[in-house]
Amino acid sequence: FGAMRDKDGRYSFTSIVRDLTHRLRTEEEASRLRENLAHVTRLASMGAMAGGIAHEINQPLTAIATYAQACSRMLRSGDLDKSATIETIEQIGHEALRAGEIIHSVREMLKTSHSDRATLCVNQLIREATRLAWLDPRLQDVELDFALAESLPPVMVHDVQIQQVILNLILNGVEAMEGQDHARLVITITTASESATCIRVSVSDMGQGLAEEIKEDLFNPFFTTKEGGLGMGLSISHTIITAHGGRLWFTDNPDIGTSFHFLLPVVAGDGSPGCA
Ligand code: ADP
Repeated sequence: FGAMRDKDGRYSFTSIVRDLTHRLRTEEEASRLRENLAHVTRLASMGAMAGGIAHEINQPLTAIATYAQACSRMLRSGDLDKSATIETIEQIGHEALRAGEIIHSVREMLKTSHSDRATLCVNQLIREATRLAWLDPRLQDVELDFALAESLPPVMVHDVQIQQVILNLILNGVEAMEGQDHARLVITITTASESATCIRVSVSDMGQGLAEEIKEDLFNPFFTTKEGGLGMGLSISHTIITAHGGRLWFTDNPDIGTSFHFLLPVVAGDGSPGCA
């Protein structure tokens, strides 16, 4: 902390807080988080996800340790700046809550992963998936707009897989909006009763849209137009939705951007799911 002493050799709380905040928010950090989250959401393996999450939790914990160390040094030095001390302690509280939020998301994700499929509410799955998406720093500039239908019938799904599909679609939408010059960047997530037997989930963005020549290839494994893209997101999503007896497709929005939609069969009384 030598560099944080002022010119008279006294410690400065404010500079410590500012320096830490800056360090934690550097672009490099953001891009590392982004890469991690991309892995977390795109790899099917739970092991890989656990690794990514452990890394995410490590961040607030490191911040807490550093803030606490700064606090204790300041208090020991006897050169007490009350408001800066409070600010640092509040940062500790904030980081602790962030760590808690991450752990909560992981718990929710892992809770029913041992079982295969369960009868679940699609709106609830969406809320949990977006809680995890919130970890991605790119979502800081994006608004998530929810238009979730009430009293939807339950669906019989593998929760982690369906959440993976939702996250893939949201992150694709966010990526499609990068560099777009709109006053607000909004991703709208809609649920609706498509028919007596199916629920529709739509993720709509205000991105660059889809060029005609790539539309045929979107769902092919390893098809990507992104530098460093994996090209597996839509392919995996398509496989998951089809395996659930549903359907995944896209439409051009009337104004700007693209919507991806999927259908899931509701739990039918006669036990015959399908969304033809
Ligand atoms: P990746 O994101 O790694 O490229 P995906 O399979 O998820 O892999 O997507 C394949 C390609 O589909 C992307 O590279 C992009 O060109 C296109 N794409 C997917 N979602 C969108 C979207 N919401 N808007 C525009 N293009 C999209």
